[in-house]
Amino acid sequence: MAASKPQPLPVLIVGSGSTGLALAQGLRQQRAIVASAVLTAKPQAGFECIVFEKHTPAVGERDWSMGCHWGFPVLKTLLPEHWWPRLQDVHADPHEPPKEWDTLTFLQGDNGNTIAAFPVPNFYRLQRSKLRALLSEELDIRHEKRLANVTYAQDHQSVTAHFSDGTTATGSILIGADGARSTVRHCLLGPQLSLVNTVPYCATFVECSFSREQALFLRSFHPLYLASAHPDNHFGFFSAQHIADPEDPTTWIFKFYISWPSSHEEQEATAHWTDAQRLAQQKEFAKKFCDPWKSAYEWTPDNTPVWYMAMTEWDPGMEGHRWDNHNGLVTLVGDAAHPMTYQRGQGLNHSLTDAGQVRDALVKIRDGADRKQTITEYENSMIERGGDEVRECTRNTALLHDWEKVKHSPFYTKGMAKNH
Ligand SMILES: Cc1cc2nc3c(=O)[nH]c(=O)nc-3n(C[C@H](O)[C@H](O)[C@H](O)COP(=O)(O)OP(=O)(O)OC[C@H]3O[C@@H](n4cnc5c(N)ncnc54)[C@H](O)[C@@H]3O)c2cc1C
Repeated sequence: MAASKPQPLPVLIVGSGSTGLALAQGLRQQRAIVASAVLTAKPQAGFECIVFEKHTPAVGERDWSMGCHWGFPVLKTLLPEHWWPRLQDVHADPHEPPKEWDTLTFLQGDNGNTIAAFPVPNFYRLQRSKLRALLSEELDIRHEKRLANVTYAQDHQSVTAHFSDGTTATGSILIGADGARSTVRHCLLGPQLSLVNTVPYCATFVECSFSREQALFLRSFHPLYLASAHPDNHFGFFSAQHIADPEDPTTWIFKFYISWPSSHEEQEATAHWTDAQRLAQQKEFAKKFCDPWKSAYEWTPDNTPVWYMAMTEWDPGMEGHRWDNHNGLVTLVGDAAHPMTYQRGQGLNHSLTDAGQVRDALVKIRDGADRKQTITEYENSMIERGGDEVRECTRNTALLHDWEKVKHSPFYTKGMAKNH
């Protein structure tokens, strides 16, 4: 009896955020394309892919909406074509298709005057929880699997993920898509070099629904999003995160924040603050703001849970940050590779671009290209693109919290344009 051909090892993806899931879909897609290609004389097997996630499925997860602009075409290539119409369902407002051209308006935070209005083409605002739910479909996702360590076979042909519950999984490559505080990055570079950098700016996010009249008023400024820079060196963002029923404004969920310069000393001194203290601080800031912030904070009940976050970044282009990809057996994508501050709205766009590039790299390797060289080429391009963006986003965050310099911000001069 002829010996059966050994099955190729699976691709291991650590992290079921938007990046890991989009990549897994892209690899599954390969299979779908091959399987349905009538002209393919000898169909090749697609990629078997397993996603490992430390959390249970989406219980009480933090949610936000993300501007997806130049990354949107890549997202489409990662999905089966018959799913494309479903992307409309993951919009913050699924009932309204994004306009061909929309306007991102910046107000002066105190008096509400428009200080900049950028035309933005095809500006999709995707709700993270809905995007992840769509991207999770038909994938092999193993929950409650917290990566603890990574080891490599001596013959350089396989990589093993070790989880905190003592189990392991062996694959042909391991992709770290485990977010800003990536364990994979920690395994590759050690605790010091991999450490995310906390920048001296903080934000407290509020999520709230309102009465019919209040919700209609708040949404009258812009149906989806609005930003402001305040002469007190504060920055405000206001968004409609989920429009469940367009006819019933009481079902609309808004998300908003005011961010401010906050030294590391202040961050430490207030680390123990309760939600009530954080919200009270935001309400105090908002008293000097124009609408919609002023009224939204005033109408937010004092016991509303909030989400406080110091901003972080990690520059993959910084000297010493280059990791060894162990002959192409391991690499990083998304926030694991280039966590950046979010005011420029670029993180997801880069993350999806990474997913598209890694999908292409794995197809090349499957077709005979050298694994180490191909993964190194991906990393060279991603590190240059992502590193530039990390640095630009941090500069932009600093400028947006410095009223004197605000008008020179790249946000104003470049709008949402792609950096590369
Ligand atoms: C408030 C806010 C607004 C933003 N707005 C925009 C925007 O407008 N436009 C834009 O382009 N980007 C935006 N971003 C950035 C964007 O959200 C991120 O770049 C993107 O979501 C990154 O996805 P990710 O999958 O790489 O990481 P994550 O979403 O962080 O996913 C990582 C996953 O890995 C899991 N994980 C972590 N450690 C382990 C482990 N050891 N083992 C197993 N699993 C693990 C986590 O539980 C998580 O599920 C915004 C970000 C924030 C916070």
